[in-house]
Amino acid sequence: MREVASGVWQISFGPRDAVNVYLVGDVLIDAGTSSMGRRLVRRLAGRRVTAHAITHAHPDHVGGSSAVCEDLGIELWAPAGDAPDVERGRPTVAPGTWASSLVARAPGWKSPKVARRLVESDSVGAFQVLDTPGHSPGHVSFWRESDRVLVVGDVFLNRTLFTGRVGVREPPRVLTVDPERNRNSMKRLAELDPAVALFGHGPPMFDADRHLGTFVDGLERLP
Ligand SMILES: [Zn+2]
Repeated sequence: MREVASGVWQISFGPRDAVNVYLVGDVLIDAGTSSMGRRLVRRLAGRRVTAHAITHAHPDHVGGSSAVCEDLGIELWAPAGDAPDVERGRPTVAPGTWASSLVARAPGWKSPKVARRLVESDSVGAFQVLDTPGHSPGHVSFWRESDRVLVVGDVFLNRTLFTGRVGVREPPRVLTVDPERNRNSMKRLAELDPAVALFGHGPPMFDADRHLGTFVDGLERLP
């Protein structure tokens, strides 16, 4: 566990921070895959955790949530727009892609109950909920204005999912329900000028305003 901002701890799984979750004060954000749930609980031993929130209903963020909530006896808070997916145990995918047929056959996750539906401007500890849809229907990010710390979720990735190369990128289009909408969310987050950006995948970024701004400016030139 590594402190990446005041009172914010990163717990990572796999090489080059392949999958990250964050303990923000006493709230756990994201929980990795189903197979990580129990390991995550062990790594949280001795920590005070009073609630669990997720950025979006994808198997590598909510997969471990039922184990976490059961073992620690805490509530799950999920974005209002993704709560139906959380509870049915499957993500929404763009229709007609190879990913959709893959996801249709994948096992999904154990469906936890959503105790609180997060919407824009809600408070989660010292952080504020931002609606950043596109990667999933109801994706949210978490923002602490006082020291400009941003929990990004998967609006941006900071490594490729497949080769592990570190660097800012868009999430894979086949795993993004509405890539254009996600680009609007990317712009929104870059315009906040975050000092620290914490990603679902890839290492933390400590001069995020410059990097994310440059990346978003270059998006116009991408297909
Ligand atoms: Zn995702």
